[in-house]
Amino acid sequence: MIDAGAERVDCVVIGAGVVGLAVARHLARAGREVVVLEAEGAIGSGISSRNSEVIHAGMYYPKDSLKARLCVEGNRLLRDFAASRGVAFKMVGKLIVATDTAEAEALDAILAKGRDNGVEGLAAISAAEALALEPALSCTAALFSSATGIIDSHGLMLALLGEAEDKGASVAFKSPVIKGCVTEGGTLLQVGGAEPMTLLARSVVISAGLGAPAVGAALGLDNVPSAYLCKGNYFGLTGKTPFSRLVYPVPVAAGLGVHFTLDLGGRGRFGPDVEWIGAEDYVVDPRRGDGFYAAIRRYWPDLADGALEPAYAGIRPKIQAPDQPARDFAIHGPAETGAPGVAALYGIESPGLTSCLAIARHVGGLLE
Ligand SMILES: Cc1cc2nc3c(=O)[nH]c(=O)nc-3n(C[C@H](O)[C@H](O)[C@H](O)COP(=O)(O)OP(=O)(O)OC[C@H]3O[C@@H](n4cnc5c(N)ncnc54)[C@H](O)[C@@H]3O)c2cc1C
Repeated sequence: MIDAGAERVDCVVIGAGVVGLAVARHLARAGREVVVLEAEGAIGSGISSRNSEVIHAGMYYPKDSLKARLCVEGNRLLRDFAASRGVAFKMVGKLIVATDTAEAEALDAILAKGRDNGVEGLAAISAAEALALEPALSCTAALFSSATGIIDSHGLMLALLGEAEDKGASVAFKSPVIKGCVTEGGTLLQVGGAEPMTLLARSVVISAGLGAPAVGAALGLDNVPSAYLCKGNYFGLTGKTPFSRLVYPVPVAAGLGVHFTLDLGGRGRFGPDVEWIGAEDYVVDPRRGDGFYAAIRRYWPDLADGALEPAYAGIRPKIQAPDQPARDFAIHGPAETGAPGVAALYGIESPGLTSCLAIARHVGGLLE
């Protein structure tokens, strides 16, 4: 790659999703000059606008994992941030429900994990107590989490962007990073799009969601994981919303199970399911609804035929194949990327939205 004429910048963040914007805000507040390069024409065009918008509490993840630590810390940071910046959110609470003995045992394990992880407001409740909260439910036992809520993810991204820009950061849209290499003077980045350019950055943070492994490989970094796409389809509920809290079954292998969430407008939806795919595709196949009815009726038997309609889909940026065990967030600092000043974020699936501010702090520490 030719570096003659490369524009020198202090710090480049690749990707303007919720995580990239949180990182850009953090670095800009720390006094760094930050340029965000985004392939699309707007912020939050990727995973960040295709999720459940849930503020997770952190009870699912192995003790001391990044997911556990950054979710618990991120939950607190996110609530404080949203409350002080006027970003809409609501701590509606969540029930995790068991419908048979095996699932009740799984609830015990989730409760223990939650305690290990320092999750606040998590308690086991009886079926009668669960029904008193949500009369439409059918379950044999439940956990109640008061530290779970919902948030306006777009409002959050706008607030993060605003604060980053106030501290001097800028975002270049339609600016995909297509190639790069690590040199003695920093990392050279070749940017495509309508106005191609070459930048020489002292620090680079790859926060490119589904595209992160491809960018890591294009820069020739060490330890780049393989990328796998795991789609999650959502179905909207027509008619009256049955619950006023979030309702989750016991988790399944690659996701949290087909759960009920509310948006801030009070509309209910179910999802996401688990569909491993080979290429990005956001169309929801109405036939997947059959599996939804069966899964939902385990905890909501009154779901009427024809009440669900295809809504939207998101794609989890997995870094393990379908038959491999779940992996933690892979947040690589210079020691793992093998490149001075370069951090790379891989596999930032759920609870990435909840954790965004804590991830940003963590990345800031790796680059110090
Ligand atoms: C179905 C689903 C449900 C979820 N539900 C929740 C939830 O309820 N709560 C929660 O906490 N988390 C949830 N998550 C996880 C959360 O949405 C993600 O962790 C988070 O949005 C990831 O943000 P990001 O900034 O890393 O990625 P993205 O939002 O995808 O941003 C990456 C950006 O990088 C850009 N990009 C890619 N390649 C390049 C390139 N070469 N050059 C420049 N730009 C590039 C993309 O255009 C994109 O805008 C869910 C995820 C899924 C898939």
